Amino acid sequence: MKSSASIALSFVLLILAYTAHAEKISLVGATVINPADGKTLPNATVVINGDRIERVSMGKQDAAALGKQIDCAGKFILPGYIDTHVHFFQSGDLFTRPDGADLSSVRPYKDEVAWVKGHVNDVFARYLRSGITSVVDVGGPFWNFEVRKTANATAKAPRVAVAGPLISSISREKLDLGDPPIVKIDNPEQARDFVRKLAAQNPDLVKIWYIVDKDHPVDSFRPIVRATVDESHAHKIRVAVHATELETARAAVEEGADILVHSVIDKPVDDAFVKLLKDRHIILCPTLVVFERYGRVFSHQLNLTPEEKAWGNPEVIASLDITKIPPDKLPDRIKTALAKPDEALDRIKKTYEVALPNLKTLEDAGVTIAAGTDAGNIGTIHGPALFREFQLMKQAGLTPMQILQCATANAAKLFGGETGPHIGKIDSGYLADLVILKSNPIDDIAHASDIDSVMKNGVIYRPADLVAETR
Ligand SMILES: [Zn+2]
Repeated sequence: MKSSASIALSFVLLILAYTAHAEKISLVGATVINPADGKTLPNATVVINGDRIERVSMGKQDAAALGKQIDCAGKFILPGYIDTHVHFFQSGDLFTRPDGADLSSVRPYKDEVAWVKGHVNDVFARYLRSGITSVVDVGGPFWNFEVRKTANATAKAPRVAVAGPLISSISREKLDLGDPPIVKIDNPEQARDFVRKLAAQNPDLVKIWYIVDKDHPVDSFRPIVRATVDESHAHKIRVAVHATELETARAAVEEGADILVHSVIDKPVDDAFVKLLKDRHIILCPTLVVFERYGRVFSHQLNLTPEEKAWGNPEVIASLDITKIPPDKLPDRIKTALAKPDEALDRIKKTYEVALPNLKTLEDAGVTIAAGTDAGNIGTIHGPALFREFQLMKQAGLTPMQILQCATANAAKLFGGETGPHIGKIDSGYLADLVILKSNPIDDIAHASDIDSVMKNGVIYRPADLVAETR
């Protein structure tokens, strides 16, 4: 039994913990934008109590009930953005995917991995700096589960949902240093075993890398997709599938996938496919930005946005200048792209000529679209890459409100779990994750990066608290 002194002490500690948590802050006078229902509230007051939004109301308030007031007149408050497709095991630099472009003679892959592991907090801060208060890591080594744990214990970090290693139709030996991010699975029984191993880590998602080529046709991997989905669903885990061809995506959904990642880029989606996605309540994450970045880096045509240059990691960005690599060290894929940059750009253009109209078709049909970047891949910068994604979604014909809905309320559905239902919206009881803007993103989506400050878990951060700018 506890002594009465220790009970008293516990009580005091409880009170202290409670008061530390329960600071009341009110953001007064801003326009509150709720993309979930498309409504905007002028001259609003958002009352934050601890880590939660207590209430949102309009007009004059009783000062006594507001706690510490922060004047937000002329500002715009949104739910914190959510990037539903990132990879923490990749830095975004030139050396991060030796399976795609082997530059390990310039920088050994183990050095790259060590750098990545040493910069997790840096990456977290860059997400918050970009107004991104939650991210979904859609596949990486078992080490990903450590990243989630670290994020949960770090104030200046986004909320993190993770998948473990990707269940793949093809192997990627160059990424295997003992804890591979991609695991080739050869039959349904192996798939079930692997899902059980993943389930022990309580993943937010299981991810399938459904890569199709002439040696790996759509149908040969279907039984593995089915077994993976069955076993995952038996453990109440949703399954996300990488599928970039129409028939691959269709097969994935027919086999029970919950989430499609990347766009269909080989042909226009047809009515049957659109209906299938709607009937099955599939969430699709288009990751448009990643489709241009490999080709643009390799052909020395990189088009980083001002946000990426200012808020991206400077070491990562410096590495992306391909002309600094001794020509004799360049793999053929890069040599070809460098010699014929127009062809590289043309391929990107052709991809967007299919992917952008497909996004518009799916959005218009009412399919749930969640914004995501695939950040961490070569040239796709952790954090601010989301604003390039917004530009491309705009180019596809989405309105600013639709884009913001994809990056908040819809993305929260993809995040899922216990947290998903409490993020992505500004309403009583929701977690106090907010982005405060200096200009109106409904007038122009470019204003989505005009960030005044960011609130995560009820704590407000000025940009300078998060990232030293390099612009
Ligand atoms: Zn990815």
